[in-house]
Amino acid sequence: DAEWRDMLDAETYRVTRQAGTERAFTGKYNSNKADGVYYCAGCGAELFDAEEKYDSGSGWPSFTEPVDATHVHEVRDTSYGMIRIETQCARCGSHQGHVFPDGPPPTGNRYCINSVALSFVAEGEPLPDPLERGDVNA
Ligand code: FE
Repeated sequence: DAEWRDMLDAETYRVTRQAGTERAFTGKYNSNKADGVYYCAGCGAELFDAEEKYDSGSGWPSFTEPVDATHVHEVRDTSYGMIRIETQCARCGSHQGHVFPDGPPPTGNRYCINSVALSFVAEGEPLPDPLERGDVNA
């Protein structure tokens, strides 16, 4: 935990390691429409492709599915008197957001993700160093 606290800025730590939620419509990727890939802000695992991003109107980046189902760990979350499915990075356990069954076709799912839990790399741009830490299945 101390390592995460050192490595992440305060807001990223609060969201990813303490299952926090950024305020709606404040996240840096909420209205990002660029092509590219969203990586885990904690460990660089490849989580979502911009092709699966859509405007849900919720105020958080929303995706119909992850790049690979094995890259995302889904956990039953009963906090705040609700029954929800939390999504975590399968590699480092960072809290990402939740998945709801009210998304558009073809999956019908809405992965509702905190911008601060993601690190976006636009198509054609080189991966920054922290994102080159190997494969999620390694
Ligand atoms: Fe991760």
